[in-house]
Amino acid sequence: MSNPSVENVVIIGTGCAGLTAAIYTARANLNPLVLEGPLPGGQLTTTSEVENFPGFPEGVDGFQLMQNLREQATKFGTRFEQTLVERVDFSSQPHKLIAGDRVILAKAVIVATGASPRMTGIPGEKELYGGKGVTTCATCDGAFYRKMDVAVIGGGDSAAEEALFLTRFASKVYLVHRRDSLRASKIMADRATSHPKVQPVWNSVPVAVEGVEQGAVSGLRVKNVKTGAETVLPVKGVFVAIGHQPNTGPFAPPLDVDEGGYFKPKPGSQVQTKIPGVYVAGDCADHVYRQAITAAGMGCAAAIETERWLAEHHAE
Ligand code: NAP
Repeated sequence: MSNPSVENVVIIGTGCAGLTAAIYTARANLNPLVLEGPLPGGQLTTTSEVENFPGFPEGVDGFQLMQNLREQATKFGTRFEQTLVERVDFSSQPHKLIAGDRVILAKAVIVATGASPRMTGIPGEKELYGGKGVTTCATCDGAFYRKMDVAVIGGGDSAAEEALFLTRFASKVYLVHRRDSLRASKIMADRATSHPKVQPVWNSVPVAVEGVEQGAVSGLRVKNVKTGAETVLPVKGVFVAIGHQPNTGPFAPPLDVDEGGYFKPKPGSQVQTKIPGVYVAGDCADHVYRQAITAAGMGCAAAIETERWLAEHHAE
């Protein structure tokens, strides 16, 4: 347990928010340490083309964009380490980040842990998750479903995007939504519902993923919420795209979260928490915009706040 060195700033998370915070704090000569969790590069690494990140008129591959951010952060001296923070102690300076029997000490901390995909919890989903036909990432797994029928569950931008991406491989994509229209942005909703391979299944909730006995998805049982009728969609793949859960557990308490589990910053700020020297950024603290560019913006803001706070409280 002897780790006497105290970091200036530790950034937790390597999505858009974390890496932007790393670029800014590294350029400010703060020698940041970035802790990388289970999904290096964050959610954008599981998306395909990003068409709305400013500066890329032709779009940019999500994975490539994150590689670029990482390179940029590394160039200015960011250090990376794979560590899953389990607990924190923010009761006194330096702040303590606890991972197993390791304690990392830091004057300032930026939490940018993002959000994880939500699951429906229906029978068969868990049993057939990961390599057996249930997935949350079309970009990662879509190519396994060439010339097969698949189903996407959800009605937001993610569901529309996943459905469209899957049309590259699948013969048919059922888009199962519990309402009679998508909540996705109009452009994405129109693109998805007008695609000849996409068949919307409106007013329907998923009831069970079938195929547990065989160890592979053989269908998705859905129920029409208006008529109560159940049918089985004959699919080999089920893509769950029903939103996300913020990864705030190990930090709350002591940090405040709202009813959805998202970090609740101090009134008047998007990134400052009630604890001096501790900041939050990106999807773990934003249930409204949840965009790559807004996460990057919050990462930048958190880095600038950190820089100012360190200058004021830890000037050497
Ligand atoms: P979302 O907007 O929260 O949509 C989740 C969808 O899943 C909703 O349609 C919801 O139904 C449905 N749902 C939730 N729980 C369900 C359950 N248990 N069973 C069945 N359906 C369920 O999530 P998202 O699509 O992941 O998008 C999140 C944010 O990221 C949004 O702000 C979105 O605009 C943004 N985003 C943007 C892009 C892009 O610009 N390219 C791509 C992806 C995401 P209800 O409609 O009934 O609530």
